[in-house]
Amino acid sequence: MYNLLVGWLDFCDILGDNICSILSGKPLILIHVPFLWVHGMALFPFVLIKYKHYASNERLLNHEQIHLRQQLELGIIPFYIWYLLEYAWLRVKGMKHKEAYYNISFEKEAYDRQYDLDYLLYRPLWNFRKYL
Ligand SMILES: [Zn+2]
Repeated sequence: MYNLLVGWLDFCDILGDNICSILSGKPLILIHVPFLWVHGMALFPFVLIKYKHYASNERLLNHEQIHLRQQLELGIIPFYIWYLLEYAWLRVKGMKHKEAYYNISFEKEAYDRQYDLDYLLYRPLWNFRKYL
């Protein structure tokens, strides 16, 4: 189990409204973005959250951390390119926005495993391929 919000990083004070937290052994930099159009977003190395109280939402943070892992193993920029191409392909195939979003392999893995808070401890490399 993650021990959420065990400490605050000093530069959180400098950034003012931004939130930082440390998940046990795995640093996670949270940034509070009130105007975010989604609940959360992983932009390596940051996780953006719409509401401050999401800082204690283990499921949401786990979901976004799965994306951070995907981004790292693909080399960040290729992740975004792949993500957008897969979304575009699903739209071309006739899916509506939401259906296409939920069918992107990266999202399928993250939604499938977001409740397993230990998932990243044993997840095999490039495991999103199982969801293609
Ligand atoms: Zn996601």
